[in-house]
This record gives sequence, C-alpha cells and structure tokens, in this order.
Amino acid sequence: MLTFKPKNRDLVNIDSSSLDNNIVVDVHQLNHYFGKGNLKKQVLFDINLQIGRGEIVLMTGPSGSGKTTLLTLSGGLRSPQEGSMKVLGVEMVGASKRQTIAVRRNIGYIFQAHNLLKSLTAQQNVQMAGQLHDNMSSKEIKERATEMLDAVGLSDRKSYYPDNLSGGQKQRVAIARALMSHPKLVLADEPTAALDGKSGREIVEIMQKLAKEQGTTILMVTHDNRILDVADRIVHLEDGCLAQNDVLTVSE
Ligand code: ADP
Ligand code: MG
Repeated sequence: MLTFKPKNRDLVNIDSSSLDNNIVVDVHQLNHYFGKGNLKKQVLFDINLQIGRGEIVLMTGPSGSGKTTLLTLSGGLRSPQEGSMKVLGVEMVGASKRQTIAVRRNIGYIFQAHNLLKSLTAQQNVQMAGQLHDNMSSKEIKERATEMLDAVGLSDRKSYYPDNLSGGQKQRVAIARALMSHPKLVLADEPTAALDGKSGREIVEIMQKLAKEQGTTILMVTHDNRILDVADRIVHLEDGCLAQNDVLTVSE
C-alpha cells in the first residue's frame, strides 16, 4: 500500500515567537525576473528589507516600479527566484507548496478591488476567511466576524450584500475579512485607491488601530500622500530598486 509521508521540511509550524529578532519579513539580495529567454526582464534588483513585528511600513513609488511584485512575493502569492526572502521565519525561495500555504494562512490580504463575493452578505464574506482555519469552531467564526464588523463600524450593515454598500463600506468589510483570523502580517495593495480622501483616511486609521491592538505587522503600498503619517516607516521603490528605510521624522 502506498502511504503519503510528508517530508520533514514540509512540516511547518509557524510560531512567530521563535522569529529571530522579531523580524516578520526579512529580505536579502532579492532579484526577480519576468519572462524567459530573450524576453526575460528583471523587475526587482538587490532588494533588502527587514520589517519588525507590529511595524506599519508604507511602500511608495511610481507605477511599474515593482511594488505589487514585491508585495505578492512577500505574501507567498508568487515564488521568489533569487536571493533570500524569509516571511514569518520561513525561507520562501525554494519553499514547498505546503510551506507556502502555511505561511499564507498567517497573512491577511487587502487589495485595491475589495474582491468581496456578491452573493454573500457582509457577515458571510467575513466568516469565509475564518472557515479556512480548521482551528476555529463555527461559533467562534460567527462571533469573531461580528466583532470585526463592529470594529470597522459596520454593526448595522452585517446583513447587506456588497452591491448595497458604498466603496468605503466594502473596503471596511475587506479589512474585517483580512483581520478576521488574527493574521501576523497584513499586506495591502493600494487599499484606498478607489476611495475619496475622507473614506481612505478612515480606512487606514481603522487598519492602524486594529493592527496596533493585535500586534499585527502591516506592509501597505500607497500613492496616497494624505495617509503617509500612519506609517512607522516609509520605503520607496523606483525602477525595481528600494531606497533604504527612510526613518519617519515626526514634527511635534
Ligand atoms: P507596480 O505595482 O509598482 O505598478 P508591478 O510590480 O505591477 O509594479 O510591475 C513591475 C514591472 O513588472 C512592470 O514593468 C510590469 O510591467 C512587470 N510585470 C508585472 N507583472 C508581470 C507579469 N505577470 N508578467 C510580466 N511582467 C510583469
Ligand atoms: Mg501595483
């Protein structure tokens, strides 16, 4: 009889308390290429980036500079090719599918398009994220979803379908969904791009508050100058190169 035995390296227990120096994202000399042969094109060059636990890092940079590529690599949504990229202590260069999935379970994703399912209510959309985790009972999932929708100010919209919510409200549901399962890392790609200034500001303030309460690390791509002050640190990507770690100076 054939039995499937997982290889040792496939057994992944993501325990962030064992992280070296509390570094959640640890990138060294990362290069990334799209295409093959003559069409091969390098889009990321010698990226070095360390993000600590609970840190809110904003990434800015012109269109086409590689921000989304770097974000999707950090989230295990694309495989890194060259260099080193540790996410939650797991080396993603050469990681197995199982390792990648284990890492993804600890990450909340928020995209420019909210990606809510139209046929589900706000409450059901948020609950879906909890159902990916076998360690949460359905009662816990329901309670947690309710709690998250309250936290993003949507107590009275839980039974609404996405079509009946405003852009800002839909993005709040997406935040509730991303933070539903206490992710250790939240990756957000221009989450305020489709919103007016005031709703955009509210969205990032909600993210900031929830992240600080839960000790979550946030890496957020943004073009929005009005929200830069929520960052602990701003990094800038240009032509695939990262300008190093500008320390944010806050004037009193
Ligand atoms: P940004 O998010 O900063 O606008 P991207 O990471 O989306 O930049 O893109 C960086 C570069 O990589 C661009 O030149 C883009 O055209 C190219 N690129 C992005 N995704 C792909 C892909 N799937 N295949 C080929 N080239 C891509
Ligand atoms: Mg992009």
